[in-house]
Amino acid sequence: MKNLRDFTLEELEVLIKDLSEPIYRARQIFHWITCKLAKNFQEMTDLPKVLRYKLSENFSLSLPEVIEVKEDADKTIKLGLLLEDKEIIETVIIPEKDHYTLCVSTQVGCAMGCKFCLTGKLGFRRNLKVYEIISQVVWAKKILKERKTNLPLRNIVFMGMGEPLANLKNLIKSLKILAHPWGFNFSRKRLTVSTVGLVKEIEILGKEFPVALAVSLHAPTDEIRKTIMPIAHKYSINEILQAIKKFPRIKNGRITIEYLLLKGITDTTFCAKKLVELFKGLPIKINLIPFNPHPELPFERPSDKNIEEFQKFLLSHKILTTVRKSKGLGICAACGQLGAELIKNSFPNSVNKKTAVRTS
Ligand code: SAH
Ligand code: SF4
Repeated sequence: MKNLRDFTLEELEVLIKDLSEPIYRARQIFHWITCKLAKNFQEMTDLPKVLRYKLSENFSLSLPEVIEVKEDADKTIKLGLLLEDKEIIETVIIPEKDHYTLCVSTQVGCAMGCKFCLTGKLGFRRNLKVYEIISQVVWAKKILKERKTNLPLRNIVFMGMGEPLANLKNLIKSLKILAHPWGFNFSRKRLTVSTVGLVKEIEILGKEFPVALAVSLHAPTDEIRKTIMPIAHKYSINEILQAIKKFPRIKNGRITIEYLLLKGITDTTFCAKKLVELFKGLPIKINLIPFNPHPELPFERPSDKNIEEFQKFLLSHKILTTVRKSKGLGICAACGQLGAELIKNSFPNSVNKKTAVRTS
């Protein structure tokens, strides 16, 4: 059975037409399964009973099962979701001052093999379907509603497991469902896609459905980048810069550059100076991400003093620079930590050995 959560409004309209129903029914159904969080067709009380029956006979609205809810002392909530083929993904609800942000996964594992990332160490298992991406938002909204929180879920960041632009078709469909006024109605500037820097796909996203873009640069020269990110052998920093310059600037007129601070590797004065050379005068913001350590990863986090000095240097050269505060560290829910704990515990043999060797 096809899952209706896989459908954009336009696709639902085609389907409704094929069923010889009035077109406005598509809008009603779309509204029910998105912002009204309907679990089944019976809840859709403004649809005729016959149509509800017809839909339930032919389509599913199933969601992955929530198999784990973990809450950190800082109130970050990590959800473990079991997919139909028994794969597991994770999604993280992050409390902010006046809203929540949801960190969404787009793949089971990741093929990019960045050496500082636990998800990368798992290797690639498969792309998520549209309904599996959307379900993470549905569950987060349900859980926040159950907990009667006053703050809205306002931001979605595609910074969970996987490389969003390597699952481009399903990513774009999901973004359309999330941003549609009759769907979840998220503002496009509150949907942020973070990418390792897949140049061709950045261009396609910019043309087809631009949202806020964050690029994981993490090093200021191709030489250093190649030592920590295999993708640097395919695309140069120069190519990434060209792609960024062409990308529509949806959020505050700037593209975000994510920059990982690894002690002794990317936190040096040399790196800070190179970053200034690269970005002086460009409409970007640098978001510094202090490395989240893990026993399996051969890197160290710089001291708070070094992080502060690195930021000050960039600011003194008029480069807008923020430092990302890691949340959910206590439950392995911070950047680059998703999937590792849960998948290893449940499927000890699931680590893709080939990729693990290549990336370590
Ligand atoms: N694949 C995408 C999005 C998921 S990763 C990307 O790479 O951009 C989200 C962010 O977490 C990326 O900027 C990634 O580089 C960063 N990250 C990965 N491992 C990390 C770690 N151990 N410590 C801090 N940040 C990490
Ligand atoms: Fe994949 Fe992003 Fe992790 Fe790199 S940092 S391995 S692209 S999830």
